Amino acid sequence: MNIKTVGVVGAGTMGNGIAQVCAAAGLQVVMQDIGEAQLERGITTVAGSLDRLVKKEKIAAADKQATLANIATTTALADLADVDIVIEAATENEALKLDLFRQLDAVCKPGAILASNTSSISLTKIAGVTERADCVIGMHFMNPVPMMALVEVIRALQTTDETCRVVHELSEFIGKVPIEAKDSPGFVANRILIPMINEAAYVYYEGLASAEGIDEIMKLGMAHPMGPLALADLIGLDTCYAVIKVLHEGFGDSKYRPCPIWQQLVDAGYLGRKTGRGFYVYDA
Ligand code: NAD
Repeated sequence: MNIKTVGVVGAGTMGNGIAQVCAAAGLQVVMQDIGEAQLERGITTVAGSLDRLVKKEKIAAADKQATLANIATTTALADLADVDIVIEAATENEALKLDLFRQLDAVCKPGAILASNTSSISLTKIAGVTERADCVIGMHFMNPVPMMALVEVIRALQTTDETCRVVHELSEFIGKVPIEAKDSPGFVANRILIPMINEAAYVYYEGLASAEGIDEIMKLGMAHPMGPLALADLIGLDTCYAVIKVLHEGFGDSKYRPCPIWQQLVDAGYLGRKTGRGFYVYDA
Protein backbone atom coordinates (compact mmCIF):
# COMPACT_ATOMS: atom_id res chain seq x y z
CA MET A 1 0.00 0.00 0.00
CA ASN A 2 1.30 3.45 -0.92
CA ILE A 3 -0.30 5.27 2.01
CA LYS A 4 2.26 5.67 4.79
CA THR A 5 1.23 8.96 6.41
CA VAL A 6 -2.24 10.15 7.41
CA GLY A 7 -3.39 13.60 8.45
CA VAL A 8 -6.46 13.68 10.69
CA VAL A 9 -8.28 17.00 11.02
CA GLY A 10 -10.26 17.22 14.27
CA ALA A 11 -9.29 15.41 17.48
CA GLY A 12 -12.84 14.96 18.78
CA THR A 13 -15.04 11.87 19.15
CA MET A 14 -14.25 10.59 15.65
CA GLY A 15 -10.88 12.16 14.89
CA ASN A 16 -9.06 10.60 17.82
CA GLY A 17 -10.59 7.20 17.03
CA ILE A 18 -9.50 7.46 13.39
CA ALA A 19 -6.00 8.51 14.50
CA GLN A 20 -5.88 5.51 16.86
CA VAL A 21 -6.80 2.87 14.28
CA CYS A 22 -4.43 4.30 11.67
CA ALA A 23 -1.56 4.52 14.17
CA ALA A 24 -2.27 1.03 15.50
CA ALA A 25 -1.87 -0.27 11.93
CA GLY A 26 1.61 1.28 11.80
CA LEU A 27 0.82 4.42 9.81
CA GLN A 28 2.36 7.76 10.79
CA VAL A 29 -0.44 10.09 11.88
CA VAL A 30 -0.50 13.86 12.24
CA MET A 31 -3.63 14.87 14.15
CA GLN A 32 -4.63 18.53 13.84
CA ASP A 33 -7.18 20.58 15.76
CA ILE A 34 -7.77 24.26 16.50
CA GLY A 35 -6.34 24.21 20.05
CA GLU A 36 -3.93 22.39 22.34
CA ALA A 37 -6.75 21.54 24.77
CA GLN A 38 -8.66 19.65 22.06
CA LEU A 39 -5.49 17.78 21.05
CA GLU A 40 -4.66 16.86 24.64
CA ARG A 41 -8.18 15.57 25.16
CA GLY A 42 -7.91 13.57 21.95
CA ILE A 43 -4.62 11.95 22.95
CA THR A 44 -5.95 11.21 26.45
CA THR A 45 -8.95 9.48 24.89
CA VAL A 46 -6.68 7.38 22.64
CA ALA A 47 -4.52 6.41 25.62
CA GLY A 48 -7.62 5.43 27.62
CA SER A 49 -8.97 3.37 24.75
CA LEU A 50 -5.60 1.58 24.35
CA ASP A 51 -5.48 0.96 28.12
CA ARG A 52 -8.82 -0.83 27.91
CA LEU A 53 -7.48 -3.00 25.06
CA VAL A 54 -4.38 -3.85 27.13
CA LYS A 55 -6.60 -4.73 30.10
CA LYS A 56 -8.71 -7.04 27.92
CA GLU A 57 -5.44 -8.57 26.64
CA LYS A 58 -6.32 -7.63 23.04
CA ILE A 59 -3.01 -5.80 22.66
CA ALA A 60 0.29 -5.80 24.59
CA ALA A 61 1.45 -2.80 26.65
CA ALA A 62 4.22 -2.27 24.09
CA ASP A 63 1.58 -1.95 21.34
CA LYS A 64 0.01 0.91 23.27
CA GLN A 65 3.30 2.79 23.37
CA ALA A 66 4.01 2.06 19.70
CA THR A 67 0.57 3.34 18.68
CA LEU A 68 0.92 6.54 20.71
CA ALA A 69 4.41 7.08 19.28
CA ASN A 70 2.89 7.04 15.78
CA ILE A 71 0.64 10.03 16.52
CA ALA A 72 2.01 13.58 16.28
CA THR A 73 -0.25 16.54 17.06
CA THR A 74 -0.40 20.07 15.74
CA THR A 75 -2.62 23.12 15.60
CA ALA A 76 -1.19 24.13 12.20
CA LEU A 77 -2.92 22.81 9.08
CA ALA A 78 0.36 23.49 7.23
CA ASP A 79 1.88 20.51 9.08
CA LEU A 80 -0.25 18.24 6.86
CA ALA A 81 1.73 19.34 3.79
CA ASP A 82 3.47 15.98 3.31
CA VAL A 83 0.81 13.42 4.26
CA ASP A 84 -0.46 10.90 1.69
CA ILE A 85 -4.09 11.26 2.76
CA VAL A 86 -6.08 13.58 5.01
CA ILE A 87 -9.15 12.30 6.82
CA GLU A 88 -11.14 15.32 7.92
CA ALA A 89 -13.26 14.81 11.06
CA ALA A 90 -14.04 18.37 12.14
CA THR A 91 -17.45 19.59 13.32
CA GLU A 92 -20.42 18.73 11.06
CA ASN A 93 -20.95 22.12 9.48
CA GLU A 94 -20.99 22.67 5.73
CA ALA A 95 -19.39 26.14 5.65
CA LEU A 96 -16.63 24.99 8.01
CA LYS A 97 -15.86 21.90 5.91
CA LEU A 98 -15.85 23.82 2.61
CA ASP A 99 -13.40 26.30 4.12
CA LEU A 100 -11.21 23.49 5.48
CA PHE A 101 -11.10 21.71 2.11
CA ARG A 102 -10.08 24.94 0.34
CA GLN A 103 -7.24 25.28 2.85
CA LEU A 104 -6.25 21.59 2.68
CA ASP A 105 -6.18 21.78 -1.11
CA ALA A 106 -3.73 24.68 -0.89
CA VAL A 107 -1.55 23.06 1.78
CA CYS A 108 -1.35 19.36 0.84
CA LYS A 109 1.04 17.92 -1.71
CA PRO A 110 -0.26 17.22 -5.23
CA GLY A 111 -1.98 13.84 -5.46
CA ALA A 112 -2.71 13.57 -1.73
CA ILE A 113 -6.23 12.24 -1.17
CA LEU A 114 -8.60 14.48 0.79
CA ALA A 115 -11.24 12.37 2.56
CA SER A 116 -14.07 13.59 4.76
CA ASN A 117 -15.71 11.70 7.60
CA THR A 118 -18.84 13.84 7.16
CA SER A 119 -22.07 12.16 8.28
CA SER A 120 -24.28 13.77 5.70
CA ILE A 121 -22.79 16.63 3.67
CA SER A 122 -22.44 16.30 -0.12
CA LEU A 123 -18.99 15.06 -1.14
CA THR A 124 -19.61 16.43 -4.63
CA LYS A 125 -20.00 19.91 -3.13
CA ILE A 126 -16.92 19.49 -0.92
CA ALA A 127 -14.88 18.23 -3.89
CA GLY A 128 -16.08 21.19 -5.95
CA VAL A 129 -14.24 23.76 -3.83
CA THR A 130 -10.88 22.08 -4.49
CA GLU A 131 -8.59 21.94 -7.52
CA ARG A 132 -8.27 18.17 -7.00
CA ALA A 133 -11.89 17.04 -7.02
CA ASP A 134 -10.77 13.69 -8.45
CA CYS A 135 -8.91 12.99 -5.17
CA VAL A 136 -11.80 13.90 -2.82
CA ILE A 137 -13.91 11.14 -1.26
CA GLY A 138 -16.02 10.30 1.79
CA MET A 139 -14.69 7.89 4.42
CA HIS A 140 -17.53 7.64 6.92
CA PHE A 141 -16.32 5.77 9.99
CA MET A 142 -18.68 4.60 12.73
CA ASN A 143 -18.54 5.48 16.42
CA PRO A 144 -16.66 4.21 18.42
CA VAL A 145 -14.10 3.90 15.62
CA PRO A 146 -11.85 1.26 17.25
CA MET A 147 -14.86 -1.05 17.77
CA MET A 148 -16.91 -0.63 14.61
CA ALA A 149 -16.01 -2.43 11.40
CA LEU A 150 -17.74 -0.29 8.77
CA VAL A 151 -16.32 2.49 6.63
CA GLU A 152 -19.03 3.83 4.33
CA VAL A 153 -17.15 5.00 1.22
CA ILE A 154 -18.83 7.83 -0.67
CA ARG A 155 -17.67 8.88 -4.10
CA ALA A 156 -18.16 12.44 -5.19
CA LEU A 157 -19.31 12.74 -8.80
CA GLN A 158 -15.72 13.75 -9.60
CA THR A 159 -13.90 10.98 -7.64
CA THR A 160 -11.74 8.69 -9.78
CA ASP A 161 -11.67 4.88 -9.61
CA GLU A 162 -8.05 5.12 -8.46
CA THR A 163 -8.92 7.31 -5.44
CA CYS A 164 -11.69 4.88 -4.58
CA ARG A 165 -9.35 1.90 -4.90
CA VAL A 166 -6.75 3.46 -2.59
CA VAL A 167 -9.39 4.25 0.03
CA HIS A 168 -10.71 0.66 -0.10
CA GLU A 169 -7.15 -0.59 0.32
CA LEU A 170 -6.48 1.77 3.26
CA SER A 171 -9.77 0.84 4.96
CA GLU A 172 -8.89 -2.85 4.80
CA PHE A 173 -5.31 -2.19 5.92
CA ILE A 174 -6.60 -0.60 9.14
CA GLY A 175 -8.96 -3.52 9.74
CA LYS A 176 -12.20 -2.03 8.46
CA VAL A 177 -14.78 -3.17 5.91
CA PRO A 178 -15.40 -0.56 3.19
CA ILE A 179 -18.86 -0.46 1.62
CA GLU A 180 -19.77 2.02 -1.09
CA ALA A 181 -22.76 4.32 -0.99
CA LYS A 182 -23.80 7.05 -3.42
CA ASP A 183 -23.50 10.73 -2.61
CA SER A 184 -26.96 11.68 -1.32
CA PRO A 185 -27.96 13.44 1.95
CA GLY A 186 -27.03 11.16 4.86
CA PHE A 187 -25.71 8.52 2.40
CA VAL A 188 -27.08 5.14 3.57
CA ALA A 189 -26.18 4.75 7.27
CA ASN A 190 -27.54 8.08 8.48
CA ARG A 191 -30.44 8.16 6.00
CA ILE A 192 -31.79 5.22 7.98
CA LEU A 193 -30.40 5.80 11.49
CA ILE A 194 -30.94 9.51 12.10
CA PRO A 195 -34.68 9.64 11.23
CA MET A 196 -35.16 6.84 13.80
CA ILE A 197 -33.23 8.81 16.41
CA ASN A 198 -35.20 11.96 15.49
CA GLU A 199 -38.45 10.02 15.98
CA ALA A 200 -37.22 8.82 19.39
CA ALA A 201 -36.51 12.47 20.27
CA TYR A 202 -40.12 13.35 19.29
CA VAL A 203 -41.45 10.50 21.45
CA TYR A 204 -39.42 11.87 24.36
CA TYR A 205 -40.43 15.49 23.59
CA GLU A 206 -44.10 14.49 23.56
CA GLY A 207 -43.65 12.80 26.94
CA LEU A 208 -44.80 9.38 25.75
CA ALA A 209 -42.13 7.64 27.84
CA SER A 210 -38.99 8.47 29.80
CA ALA A 211 -35.59 8.37 28.09
CA GLU A 212 -34.87 5.10 29.90
CA GLY A 213 -38.27 3.72 28.88
CA ILE A 214 -37.77 4.59 25.20
CA ASP A 215 -34.30 3.05 25.17
CA GLU A 216 -35.39 -0.13 26.99
CA ILE A 217 -38.32 -0.57 24.58
CA MET A 218 -35.95 -0.46 21.61
CA LYS A 219 -33.37 -2.69 23.30
CA LEU A 220 -35.72 -5.37 24.58
CA GLY A 221 -38.25 -5.11 21.78
CA MET A 222 -36.02 -4.71 18.73
CA ALA A 223 -32.82 -6.30 20.03
CA HIS A 224 -30.92 -3.05 19.49
CA PRO A 225 -27.68 -3.16 21.51
CA MET A 226 -28.23 0.45 22.58
CA GLY A 227 -31.36 2.60 22.76
CA PRO A 228 -31.75 5.51 20.31
CA LEU A 229 -31.40 8.27 22.91
CA ALA A 230 -28.28 6.74 24.47
CA LEU A 231 -26.95 6.38 20.94
CA ALA A 232 -27.74 10.05 20.24
CA ASP A 233 -25.71 10.97 23.34
CA LEU A 234 -22.83 8.83 22.04
CA ILE A 235 -22.96 10.39 18.56
CA GLY A 236 -23.33 13.95 19.91
CA LEU A 237 -26.61 15.87 19.86
CA ASP A 238 -25.11 18.69 17.77
CA THR A 239 -24.11 16.10 15.15
CA CYS A 240 -27.55 14.41 15.19
CA TYR A 241 -29.19 17.82 14.79
CA ALA A 242 -26.87 18.80 11.95
CA VAL A 243 -27.58 15.55 10.08
CA ILE A 244 -31.38 15.68 10.42
CA LYS A 245 -31.25 19.27 9.11
CA VAL A 246 -29.20 18.13 6.10
CA LEU A 247 -31.81 15.41 5.40
CA HIS A 248 -34.70 17.89 5.83
CA GLU A 249 -33.14 20.53 3.59
CA GLY A 250 -31.62 18.08 1.12
CA PHE A 251 -34.84 16.19 0.38
CA GLY A 252 -37.30 19.02 1.13
CA ASP A 253 -39.50 16.37 2.72
CA SER A 254 -41.37 17.11 5.96
CA LYS A 255 -40.88 13.53 7.13
CA TYR A 256 -37.37 14.60 8.16
CA ARG A 257 -38.50 17.68 10.16
CA PRO A 258 -36.14 18.07 13.13
CA CYS A 259 -37.63 17.64 16.60
CA PRO A 260 -37.57 21.06 18.38
CA ILE A 261 -35.78 19.51 21.33
CA TRP A 262 -32.48 19.39 19.36
CA GLN A 263 -32.22 23.17 19.24
CA GLN A 264 -32.98 23.47 22.96
CA LEU A 265 -30.46 20.85 24.01
CA VAL A 266 -27.75 22.25 21.74
CA ASP A 267 -28.43 25.82 22.99
CA ALA A 268 -28.05 24.53 26.56
CA GLY A 269 -24.69 22.96 25.68
CA TYR A 270 -26.11 19.49 26.41
CA LEU A 271 -24.33 17.74 23.53
CA GLY A 272 -24.29 14.22 24.98
CA ARG A 273 -21.38 12.26 26.40
CA LYS A 274 -18.76 14.68 25.15
CA THR A 275 -20.11 17.45 27.42
CA GLY A 276 -21.27 15.14 30.24
CA ARG A 277 -24.97 15.70 29.61
CA GLY A 278 -27.48 15.06 26.85
CA PHE A 279 -30.63 12.99 27.24
CA TYR A 280 -28.75 11.46 30.19
CA VAL A 281 -26.24 12.84 32.72
CA TYR A 282 -22.75 11.28 32.78
CA ASP A 283 -19.99 11.17 35.38
CA ALA A 284 -16.94 13.30 34.61
P1 NAD B 1 -16.66 16.46 17.88
O1 NAD B 1 -17.47 17.64 18.25
O2 NAD B 1 -16.48 15.40 18.91
O3 NAD B 1 -15.21 16.90 17.39
C1 NAD B 1 -15.03 17.86 16.38
C2 NAD B 1 -13.63 18.40 16.50
O4 NAD B 1 -13.38 19.23 15.36
C3 NAD B 1 -13.43 19.27 17.75
O5 NAD B 1 -12.30 18.83 18.48
C4 NAD B 1 -13.19 20.66 17.18
O6 NAD B 1 -12.31 21.46 17.93
C5 NAD B 1 -12.61 20.32 15.81
N1 NAD B 1 -12.67 21.42 14.86
C6 NAD B 1 -13.67 22.31 14.69
N2 NAD B 1 -13.33 23.18 13.71
C7 NAD B 1 -12.10 22.82 13.27
C8 NAD B 1 -11.22 23.36 12.30
N3 NAD B 1 -11.54 24.42 11.57
N4 NAD B 1 -10.05 22.74 12.12
C9 NAD B 1 -9.68 21.65 12.84
N5 NAD B 1 -10.49 21.11 13.78
C10 NAD B 1 -11.68 21.70 13.99
O7 NAD B 1 -17.35 15.86 16.57
P2 NAD B 1 -17.27 14.36 16.01
O8 NAD B 1 -18.41 13.60 16.56
O9 NAD B 1 -15.90 13.84 16.14
O10 NAD B 1 -17.62 14.62 14.48
C11 NAD B 1 -16.61 14.93 13.54
C12 NAD B 1 -17.11 14.56 12.15
O11 NAD B 1 -17.37 13.16 12.13
C13 NAD B 1 -18.41 15.25 11.75
O12 NAD B 1 -18.39 15.51 10.39
C14 NAD B 1 -19.45 14.20 12.10
O13 NAD B 1 -20.62 14.33 11.35
C15 NAD B 1 -18.69 12.94 11.71
N6 NAD B 1 -19.17 11.69 12.32
C16 NAD B 1 -19.56 11.66 13.62
C17 NAD B 1 -19.97 10.47 14.17
C18 NAD B 1 -20.38 10.38 15.62
O14 NAD B 1 -20.97 9.37 16.02
N7 NAD B 1 -20.07 11.37 16.44
C19 NAD B 1 -20.00 9.30 13.40
C20 NAD B 1 -19.58 9.35 12.08
C21 NAD B 1 -19.17 10.56 11.55
